Amino acid sequence: MDSRLITSYGALEQLKKKTLKSYARNLALTGLAALANQQLLKKPRVQFLYIHHLFADEEQHFHELLRILSRDHHFISYGEAVNRVLSGNIDRPYITFSSDDGLHNNLRAAEILNEYGAKACFFVNPGIVGETDFDRISKFCTDTLRFPPVAFLNWEEVSRLQAWGHEIGSHTMMHINIAATGEQQIRDDMHQTFKILTERCGGVQHFAFPFGRFFHFSNVGRKAVFEAGFTTCATAERGCHIAQVSPIARDQLCIRRDHTVLGWNINHILYFLVNNAKNANTTNNIYPPGLL
Ligand SMILES: [Zn+2]
Repeated sequence: MDSRLITSYGALEQLKKKTLKSYARNLALTGLAALANQQLLKKPRVQFLYIHHLFADEEQHFHELLRILSRDHHFISYGEAVNRVLSGNIDRPYITFSSDDGLHNNLRAAEILNEYGAKACFFVNPGIVGETDFDRISKFCTDTLRFPPVAFLNWEEVSRLQAWGHEIGSHTMMHINIAATGEQQIRDDMHQTFKILTERCGGVQHFAFPFGRFFHFSNVGRKAVFEAGFTTCATAERGCHIAQVSPIARDQLCIRRDHTVLGWNINHILYFLVNNAKNANTTNNIYPPGLL
């Protein structure tokens, strides 16, 4: 592997500028986490949790997090999680995992998830899968992901994830900001990624839009996702899902996923999940009016 690629969480943290704001945020989270009522994790709901990377120096934390979560949560596949939200069949706490951007170290994350019987969905950008040219990787990481250059999965590894029982989803060809992209280009991108992933992976259902906040998306984008053939569409807005009586149309289901960095303090991660459980409401299940 090219020695210029980043290979540890420690190195990633060193590159980040530690500002007064980041220290204050960390301190505030520690305070809030100490007050969080972890009994709320026993609430019946579906929680989606997603990561980007699992570097070797994050593995121990990942094991610890999975051990803690397994006490209260039933680990289910991404597809099952979606179906439970759609059907309202949410009789206990469920959690499902996903990962965005298709970094090479996702393979290791999948191996660890396998040990816990957890099946995830990996959202990849087909335009960068298998890329080995350092300059192209560096440009994509710097300009688009705002991340240091890192290794990506290749197609053989994507197939291996599938063979282990994980699902593959689309994250657009090259991680575009849909809110800033024209309608025709969005449509073309959706059709192209759907076609490539269908040919490579023998079928694809899930889509997660890049950057993940509502302001990175559009109603045109949401419609294009389903027109292309995908049957789910995820955000990176925090929250969890509880059962609702009225039916939810698939193309209106707003899958909320909590972003997590496995190197973070585990109590901070749990704080976000407790907060979701506390604030859970059925309004969260549907895209906001501006995106419908
Ligand atoms: Zn992404």
